[in-house]
Amino acid sequence: MRRKLVAGNWKMHGLKAQLGEVEAIAAAAAANPQVDVALCVPFTLIAPAVAASSALPIGAQDLHEADKGAHTGCISGAMLRECGATLTIVGHSERRADQHETSHDAWAKAAAARRHGLHVILCCGETEAERDAGRAERIVQSQIEKSLPDGASPEWLTLAYEPRWAIGTGKTPTLDDIAAIHAIARAKLRMMVGDAAVGIRILYGGSVTGANAADILAVDNVDGALVGGASLTAEKFVPIIRAAA
Ligand code: PEP
Repeated sequence: MRRKLVAGNWKMHGLKAQLGEVEAIAAAAAANPQVDVALCVPFTLIAPAVAASSALPIGAQDLHEADKGAHTGCISGAMLRECGATLTIVGHSERRADQHETSHDAWAKAAAARRHGLHVILCCGETEAERDAGRAERIVQSQIEKSLPDGASPEWLTLAYEPRWAIGTGKTPTLDDIAAIHAIARAKLRMMVGDAAVGIRILYGGSVTGANAADILAVDNVDGALVGGASLTAEKFVPIIRAAA
């Protein structure tokens, strides 16, 4: 039985003034122990959020694939661990779009996170043009094939299916479309890692809100949600946590 995970992605939002939201989300997580909750905040907020939230896992949204070196402006897994992060997102579609990251980059970053004991939320998902062309399933399969790190296991890896066209747009796929992609992702995981695939959580991400979370979370093979905009305040995020409980 896979426990549901509701993870927030604050993207480039959040100053210390928002630590009250972290505290309120941590309190809601503690009050709903049936569901795992995590928050991926900007690098600068990791240590303050860890200090403010005690038991709530705090994560990053990216890291460099190397352990150290001449990479101006980048951050390593060891640095994330030192400031208290226990997980990180890799391969988010905004990084694929803005920083031209590839599935191979996501693979290398996931492996680096693993080396440093960070739990990985590995993202995949098609563009609107790819969906319109009937290629969504093949794109997701190919992204998983190219980005899943060796020896992936539920203890340190979670997959997130996030159709790019659903992120921050208020649009979501139909529940049947979500079910279809999650089934395909599960089958792909099974081909790649065998029985371990049964335990790997597959999150859905893309315009999840308190209003649609219960329906989405009830879909087969949806083991939680990766939430952007609606994770920025406790008022919007807590109903999603409750829907998963
Ligand atoms: C995300 O950033 O991963 C995301 C799913 O964003 P939103 O919930 O705002 O669509």
